[in-house]
Amino acid sequence: MTDCFTVLVVDLESGKSKVELVDERARVAGGSGLAALLYSRFGQAERAWDHPSQPFILAVGPLTGYFPLMSKTVCAFRSPYHEQYTESHGGGRSALSLFFAGYDALVVTGRASELSCLSFGSRHLLIKEVGFMKGYGVAMTGKLIRRMFPKSSGHRSILRIGPAGEIGSAMACVNIDSYRHFGRLGGGAVMGAKNLKGIVINGDSSHRLPDNPEYRKVYKKVYDQVTSTDMMRKYYHLGTAVNLQGLNDIEALPWRNLQKTCDPGVARINGDVFADQTLLRNAACSGCPVGCIHLGFFRDKFKQDARYLYHQVPYDYEPIFAAGTMLGVTDCFDVLRILEDFERVGLDAMSAGVALAWATEAVEKGLLSEKETIVALKFGDAPAYQEAAGYLGTGYNDFYRLLSGGTLKAAAVYGGTEFACVLGQEMAGYATGPLYFAAQSLGFRHSHLDTGAYSYEQKHHQKDVAKAVDFLIDDEPGRVLLTSMVACLFARSVYGTETLAECLSVTGFETLAASLTETSERIRRLRWQVRIATGFKPEDVEIPKRFYSVATVHGAVDGPYLDQLKAEYGRRIMVLGRPDSEPE
Ligand code: SF4
Repeated sequence: MTDCFTVLVVDLESGKSKVELVDERARVAGGSGLAALLYSRFGQAERAWDHPSQPFILAVGPLTGYFPLMSKTVCAFRSPYHEQYTESHGGGRSALSLFFAGYDALVVTGRASELSCLSFGSRHLLIKEVGFMKGYGVAMTGKLIRRMFPKSSGHRSILRIGPAGEIGSAMACVNIDSYRHFGRLGGGAVMGAKNLKGIVINGDSSHRLPDNPEYRKVYKKVYDQVTSTDMMRKYYHLGTAVNLQGLNDIEALPWRNLQKTCDPGVARINGDVFADQTLLRNAACSGCPVGCIHLGFFRDKFKQDARYLYHQVPYDYEPIFAAGTMLGVTDCFDVLRILEDFERVGLDAMSAGVALAWATEAVEKGLLSEKETIVALKFGDAPAYQEAAGYLGTGYNDFYRLLSGGTLKAAAVYGGTEFACVLGQEMAGYATGPLYFAAQSLGFRHSHLDTGAYSYEQKHHQKDVAKAVDFLIDDEPGRVLLTSMVACLFARSVYGTETLAECLSVTGFETLAASLTETSERIRRLRWQVRIATGFKPEDVEIPKRFYSVATVHGAVDGPYLDQLKAEYGRRIMVLGRPDSEPE
């Protein structure tokens, strides 16, 4: 194994590419660490997110291709949502395709003169104009790309954007191989700003597995844990949709723009109902023996005859929350229909659902009318939300264009900031209490997976700011280590630091294996340094009033306690991100 990263750098403006060797493996490992390092070299802190010179980065880790569930890719860019450096993580076939193409990372700079598609592998690179695809939806784009770029041997991954990415929506996602996404914070708009409709990654080379008995032994140990114990069972069986009932039971499931945290309607859209009524099959990211991707179906009847058209839609807890409970939609097939319409235009489902929930309450309160929303938005009205998805994804009028930049941007013009469910970005589906609200607001990706705040909150009921923030700070390096490998975070109980060290050691990364604690701390600091250099300031992130009035299972949210948590967490992050804070 080499300690050098192999990085493919493509400039869409000139059409030229080069391969750079970056000798920093021992310092930044890969994935999150490599992406932050590459942004610090290629990024332009003084330029806007959509400047052609800003990089769009994909990075995999040292264990990609060697161990189960090392199936994710880190996508890094300057976000159109808040103009700061960020990451989004996705799987599908992307990680193994990049690995088998022979690269640890891809950096795309420049802007193509026409809407284009980039295709590359270990022996070819092609930039093809695809102007005729302008405005095409995600599914049609995928279908055409598959025809235009005949399949090479090995893994192939197709990333593409829909109209939302083309118009620069801060809620635009990148679709990966139909069922996975770089969902949040507007990666799709960064591709759009580069006139890049699609990326085809051809994993057309081969790699030799480590030829030593220790590798086979460690691999078997990990594989057995993943497939023969209870550690991952939940993800395969009902999948994360199982959380709907559990979170509703503890009054932590947001309903109708977080006006409530539990509702008997959950009985119609919980994990059991989705599995019993809609589940067609499970699917998996490449290199994953678990297969947590649940594909549901709905069907449309052709008008002319008795035939049906079947639609396959992936579902998880978060999309069901966003297109279901948050919008008051309690029919599982309706939820899938809304999700498919978000997908068609290339919108991140969580951002879009939460934004439309705000718009619905704004209509109820008389702040918006059909003059702005075009369609009458009403909680529970699935066809209205299907129609609104199209307007939001295409930026149909001034209102939808503004909303596509973020709910708070629209609220600043039309009113309703106090009930915008935004924690750094549109909220994830957890209303467990103040620690979670503070953690998502300031967390690196504004994701529930940045920290274990939602689970800590359920187990610790005392109000101890120092202890709670210590937990957030101490919890982060382990997660950053996993996202530098780049493991699926569902496997965090399998891949503890000791196991990761064993895996790295038998794969030939002994130096890295021997310094994981220091390396994860270094990467965590590097990420915050890059983030802060692009404008992150904790005091700029406001938590809307709605979160202060949430009724949790432990009672009403204690506002002053929430403020103290946020202030202290922000202070600790800024200390970590000081330019001189690297531990050596
Ligand atoms: S558990 Fe699910 S998301 Fe994670 S790698 Fe496997 S299929 Fe992909």
